[in-house]
Amino acid sequence: MRQSKTVRIGNVIIGGENPIAVQSMTNTKTADREATLKQILALEEEGCDIVRFTVNTPEAAASIPYLREHARIPLVADIHFDYKLALAAADAGIHKIRINPGNIGDEDRIRAVAKKCIEKNIPVRIGINSGSLEKHILAKYGAPTAEALCESALEAAKQFERYDFDNLVLSVKSSSVPVMIAANRMLAERCSYPLHLGVTETGTAGIGSVKSAVGIGSLLVDGIGATVRVSLTADPVEEVRVAKDILAACGKTAGIDLVSCPTCGRTEIDLIRYAGELQDVIRSIRTDRRLTVALMGCVVNGPGEAREADVGVAGGKGEAVLFRKGQLIRKIREDEIVPVLKEEILRLISERRAEE
Ligand code: SF4
Repeated sequence: MRQSKTVRIGNVIIGGENPIAVQSMTNTKTADREATLKQILALEEEGCDIVRFTVNTPEAAASIPYLREHARIPLVADIHFDYKLALAAADAGIHKIRINPGNIGDEDRIRAVAKKCIEKNIPVRIGINSGSLEKHILAKYGAPTAEALCESALEAAKQFERYDFDNLVLSVKSSSVPVMIAANRMLAERCSYPLHLGVTETGTAGIGSVKSAVGIGSLLVDGIGATVRVSLTADPVEEVRVAKDILAACGKTAGIDLVSCPTCGRTEIDLIRYAGELQDVIRSIRTDRRLTVALMGCVVNGPGEAREADVGVAGGKGEAVLFRKGQLIRKIREDEIVPVLKEEILRLISERRAEE
């Protein structure tokens, strides 16, 4: 696992040995503080750790004190073009600034942002996007290649370092999954800053989730990445769900992992429906324990998987066999599968708490 520096963003610390933080971004007008707060609270409820919003006008910056007062999770101001808005956001109490060196302008502006962030003791994320690379880097590489993204991030970091500022997080995002993976691998070798991972402009929830899982997941399993954002053309809450699923699939979070078979001609129960219902149940249960729940359609692989899991069922004709920690417990009716598994999950969680 890559050992990066740690960075504090409000009450969340990323990098080092800290858990990987899930981020999302609101899509309301930030100047509409009520609408923005409502979305932030929905993201918090879904398990979002850090939230970013655009600060594209002085009115948007003016919402920050109100949002800070009512939100529990740290707030990040997304700044493009106008460095003065970064200064305003810092003065208004933001927990972190994201800037895009491709459009922030000359070094004086970087110096002003660095100075302000030192004064306020807040970090900056240098967010490189393949669509807005600096002209001189594009001219050098001819296209937003992995090398170009990596160089852009390191160059911007050096500018900040010149002003004794290294409270930095770096990100190199591309809409190309292979480019994003290669750029992050390169960056991980060349610096020790914590990395924020994301594939950008991925599309709608279906394909966007696949691209994000491949891009973010490939890096996470190699130990690269301190924080993630799944970008979807969808409700931001969906981004958090997908991000958490990616973390779980990579073994990076506690939580409940559902193992369910793909169904086939042998399936004797309405497994697709039960799997959907069970996934909803699982999403509603917050736990810092790691559990595996198996939902299998028949006795071919069913008992094997169900035995390996903490709790599981293998379907029969109109019924199922319940396993707990490898032990066959009893037969249950098909319509009992979801409620019984829910009960078993809750029981296991409370037993594990009691054991500690
Ligand atoms: Fe088919 Fe059984 Fe395998 Fe499910 S576990 S896919 S029902 S053989």
